[in-house]
Amino acid sequence: MTQPLFAFDTSYARLPERFYSPAPPAPAPDPAFLALNRPLAEQMGIDPERLASEEGRDALTGRAAPEGAALIAMAYAGAQFGHFVPQLGDGRAVLLGEVVGPDGARRDIQVKGAGRTPYSRMGDGKAPLGPALREYLVSEAMHALGVPTTRALAVLRTGEVVLRDAPLPGAVIVRVATAHIRVGTFQYFASRGDREGLEILLNHAAERAWPETLEADNPAAAFLRAVSLAQAKLVAKWLSLGFIHGVMNTDNMSVTGETIDYGPCAFMDAYAAGRVYSSIDRHGRYAYGNQPKIAHWNLLQLAEALLPLMGETEEEAVAAAQEALDVFPGAFSDAWRGALQAKLGLTETREGDDALAEDFLAALEAGEADFTLAFRGLGALRAEGGPETDGPVRELFRKPGAFDAWAVRWRARLAEEARSDGERRAAMDQVNPAIIPRNHLVEEALRAAQDGDMAPFDALHAALAAPFADRPAGDRYAQPPAKEEEVRATFCGT
Ligand code: AMP
Ligand code: MG
Repeated sequence: MTQPLFAFDTSYARLPERFYSPAPPAPAPDPAFLALNRPLAEQMGIDPERLASEEGRDALTGRAAPEGAALIAMAYAGAQFGHFVPQLGDGRAVLLGEVVGPDGARRDIQVKGAGRTPYSRMGDGKAPLGPALREYLVSEAMHALGVPTTRALAVLRTGEVVLRDAPLPGAVIVRVATAHIRVGTFQYFASRGDREGLEILLNHAAERAWPETLEADNPAAAFLRAVSLAQAKLVAKWLSLGFIHGVMNTDNMSVTGETIDYGPCAFMDAYAAGRVYSSIDRHGRYAYGNQPKIAHWNLLQLAEALLPLMGETEEEAVAAAQEALDVFPGAFSDAWRGALQAKLGLTETREGDDALAEDFLAALEAGEADFTLAFRGLGALRAEGGPETDGPVRELFRKPGAFDAWAVRWRARLAEEARSDGERRAAMDQVNPAIIPRNHLVEEALRAAQDGDMAPFDALHAALAAPFADRPAGDRYAQPPAKEEEVRATFCGT
């Protein structure tokens, strides 16, 4: 074979040496594929059959450096739960390199769980199989749900035992992103007073993610604006699906607008604005309903880092930063309002729609109703119906009567719309998924995988590839957990 497996062209490795550290992955003793994303490989111009072979297996598990690979860990800083840490970096991830696919898109390929790097601090650089498969499952489900996200190319078990609270089987997840450049990457250079580094990073990041901003009069401000708009839309998407990231530290926020670093993330079952799953989020900083506020705060950190590039004088820079940051609240509320409008089956905007949506959410919370099922159920209700035909939705509420009063208002509003029930339902079913990666299903699939049975993982993964399709009657994937199945806390597992 003359062609290399990956046609690497790694622009990040051509940046100055202080941007990264060499980090050859540790060879896995007994690797095997547990999941492989063939369609994604194809999209990236990688031969899926070759990737699935021993050659691919060894290239992804540190046994044979793939031709042309960069093998570096990226440097970054980050604000963790509000506290700035000047040096983090990839402590358990190695950038193999970038490839440009036949679609023209440049993508990073990163192996997470590949062993120690110069940024590992006290960690072992490894990943247990559970969290690796969790990221694969959830990030691919997010993609199918239409959410910008890093993708998962593969999970391979390593044949190693990883020590956490208990000995666990080890694995690596091979992750794909437009770029692994974080708000914390900018903070890294800013906090060192490295203006030149900052400028190089901005140029590189802009070229990768927001090339049009390079043409602006004030590229740094245009870049901040682009990231702010993308984050506003991203967080609105998260909220519209009941997704909780769980660790929105600035090192876990990508400037590409992709969801990144799936740790203790979760989709909620019953709606509650203050819902928190992450076991490390003791004060609920990253609760469901706080996510827009936190994204905005993270962007403020990005703005501060970019200040030296934003104007001749400090005054000028602050004004430009403020203006760019100020797009966030409006962009978020537009996106969130738009998402709720579509989720409720409305095409037009009328006074009172905000209250209608807010009151539905309030009713869900008071009634401890399942977020996903309630919205999906609305799609199937008839505009001419009432309590006698609304069973599937009203029964989700602790006191079904709580839904009835709201439904009267919703129907009055639907009467102002031109669509038939059938048209409205078809449109609503495109935005209100029938299934999401519910925590209890994910845990169940990961437990089985840990015991060597990949069948539940494969079945759940396959179902989540088409989250908007109707499910067969009584399907477990569409059901909320029974009381005893409920998952109350999620863990990083790092
Ligand atoms: P996270 O919040 O999980 O994205 O990780 C925060 C920081 O901790 C990053 O710098 C990671 O690279 C590092 N880290 C997490 N887990 C490990 C580990 N097992 N070994 C080394 N570094 C780690
Ligand atoms: Mg991280």
